[in-house]
Amino acid sequence: MPAPPCTSCHAARAALRRPRSGQALCGACFCSAFEAEVLHTVLAGRLLPPGAVVAVGASGGKDSTVLAHVLRGLAPRLGISLQLVAVDEGIGGYRDAALAAVRRQAARWELPLTVVAYEDLFGGWTMDAVARSTAGSGRSRSCCTFCGVLRRRALEEGARRVGATHIVTGHNADDMAETVLMNFLRGDTGRLARGGGLGSPGEGGALPRCRPLQFASQKEVVLYAHFRRLDYFSEECVYAPEAFRGHARDLLKRLEAARPSAVLDLVHSAERLALAASARPPRPGACSRCGALASRALCQACALLDGLNRGRPRLAIGKGRRGLDEQATPGTPGDPAQTPTPKAVPTF
Ligand code: SF4
Repeated sequence: MPAPPCTSCHAARAALRRPRSGQALCGACFCSAFEAEVLHTVLAGRLLPPGAVVAVGASGGKDSTVLAHVLRGLAPRLGISLQLVAVDEGIGGYRDAALAAVRRQAARWELPLTVVAYEDLFGGWTMDAVARSTAGSGRSRSCCTFCGVLRRRALEEGARRVGATHIVTGHNADDMAETVLMNFLRGDTGRLARGGGLGSPGEGGALPRCRPLQFASQKEVVLYAHFRRLDYFSEECVYAPEAFRGHARDLLKRLEAARPSAVLDLVHSAERLALAASARPPRPGACSRCGALASRALCQACALLDGLNRGRPRLAIGKGRRGLDEQATPGTPGDPAQTPTPKAVPTF
């Protein structure tokens, strides 16, 4: 049976049915609608003011690739300029190929690229060294915990080096829903309290962060990359299979099969969540070592590095620091890891 006509332009044949709305669109109309929705997210949330110098956390993966591509097209209208900032965590056999994809994108799109490495920033620690250190400690499943905290710090440092005023990451709606679900499963009210909204306003001197793809589903991100023929890296990080996030992802997929709106419902739930005063986290102060925002004497990054340098990585992620575990989002920007990419096969 031939595909129906596109319900937007009525000229071309539809190439897909939008997963959530069921709308039948041709590739060109889908891409235009996707870009318009990202623009609406940015404008409605007042995420990126005119004149902003925006550091895009670039991993080479599908999400950050799509984010950089869409923002590059919107930049003249928004009055912003873009800088790609990539983080090299030091993961042998994985990161080099992903960074090569980022370099190709920077060259093709003529965007400046800065790469910051854990090894340079964190006293010689790479993720491979962290993994070796935690192996046998019972914490080897927590590589993503260390990585997520260090990457956040590294991206902030890279953004400051290029004079950025704002940071954007490519977290999509599925990533956000997984995070909300993980925080519920762990009873981590502190993170739930901070989990909503489209980013953080830049507390304690940190640069404001936002996630313009927060309402875009992973399927549509993949479809957009497919129709725009974007070149991205889609292999999974060697440490990703250990992450607790994988369980949240599986659970979410089952929920979505039963209730297609489950992903967005979870994202919106977190935005509207109101915590009792007794459950709210204490007002953060400054890390006594580096001055970054911290809810304890040391910020998360300094606490983790402290534990690693003492040869006791458990120190850094014990029960008292519940909520640190595996906050990283494998496969999202700002998080250079990749999850296996769903096949971008048009519906018709
Ligand atoms: Fe880091 Fe992502 Fe790999 Fe985890 S999966 S170790 S967060 S790059």
